[in-house]
Amino acid sequence: MHVELHPVYAGTRAGDTARDLTSACVHCGFCLATCPTYLDSRDERDSPRGRIYLIKQLLETGEASEQTQTHLDRCLTCLNCETTCPSGMRYGRLLDIGRGLVQQQVSRSAYSKMLRWLLRNVLSRPQLFAALLAMGQAVRPLLPGALRNKIPRRQVRKPLPTGQQPRRMLVLEGCAQSAATPNTNDAARRVLDRLGITLISAPGAGCCGAVNYHLAAHDDGLDNMRRNIDAWWPYIESGAEAIVNCASGCGAMLVEYGELLAHDGAYAEKAKRVSQLTRDIGEVLLPEDLDKLAINTAVGRVAVHTPCTLQHALGLNSLVPELLERAGFELATTTDEHLCCGSAGTYSILQASISERLRDQKLRALTGDAPALIATANVGCQLHMQAVADRPVVHWIELLDTAK
Ligand code: SF4
Ligand code: SF4
Repeated sequence: MHVELHPVYAGTRAGDTARDLTSACVHCGFCLATCPTYLDSRDERDSPRGRIYLIKQLLETGEASEQTQTHLDRCLTCLNCETTCPSGMRYGRLLDIGRGLVQQQVSRSAYSKMLRWLLRNVLSRPQLFAALLAMGQAVRPLLPGALRNKIPRRQVRKPLPTGQQPRRMLVLEGCAQSAATPNTNDAARRVLDRLGITLISAPGAGCCGAVNYHLAAHDDGLDNMRRNIDAWWPYIESGAEAIVNCASGCGAMLVEYGELLAHDGAYAEKAKRVSQLTRDIGEVLLPEDLDKLAINTAVGRVAVHTPCTLQHALGLNSLVPELLERAGFELATTTDEHLCCGSAGTYSILQASISERLRDQKLRALTGDAPALIATANVGCQLHMQAVADRPVVHWIELLDTAK
């Protein structure tokens, strides 16, 4: 697709990058068949190709309408379209730029601004989020059903390993995950400890930047990334083998640090190194001997939900099923594995009705074979599905944290 940049964008980094990215699209429309929002609305403007056209229009006219903003907002950034596209379109990168440019052109209602501000400033601050969540959990039993379901129950934590193992890796504590599902990283610490690896939390590290960056607050997102790099760098220099994450949504952001900070002379090289060192917890376990863990696999059939970020952003489609099968778990048959559960970071709050329809479809696809539980790899998906699921939804690493 050829783009003639409007003078307002000509010679700007965002404009030039968006033009180059857009040129990869050959309008074939293959991506429509796998786009959850297009399948939901059947409106071309809610498809990848339609959104690429809307961004092209903005780049050429220098103007965007509320309609453009609405259709870009409705994108889940699930990146199903990138997996499908035969032309190698980097749609997610283009969408982030497009959302940033639209944000400069189109004002939002006071309510929308406030909600986005709250999401960015609460979710990306783990201590604040944890305090608010604890208050919500305290009054949870008194709340009406729909609201009660949105607040996850407080998890009961088990002791953490106390010794130091010969191998050391950094861990991303995350923001929502550290407060809402602390058992996930706890389980990772215990499992890796039994395999001779200690996970280190760097004081000062925090949100990976995804909440801000994907809500078009690019400068704040980049600041989150620089803060994490500063916190991790001394540990990297002293030999930490990897930066491990147990939330694929965060992992998908970490692998982009190198590209997003490539223009920053002070951080470009460090950001590239951080991206190279980033590993999903499953990637760390792949080369390990899981027999050493003597896992209790008698939990019934497990339905695996591979989050979009794990399959479409990181290209690790088979990672979780492969590990669980190797560990001895019986997997349930599932369908439509490529489709998003509707969580998509803050999407479940900002686009609640589409998100809920997608969740219902996903739960039907996961539970047709009557599994005893659902295992996923991302906190957002876990909480979103657990709110209405009629069986437990866990992070898969918790399943490996059980002894016979
Ligand atoms: S599949 Fe790729 S090239 Fe084809 S319309 Fe979609 S984004 Fe464009
Ligand atoms: S990222 Fe997902 S929702 Fe957005 S256009 Fe691509 S397939 Fe559709």
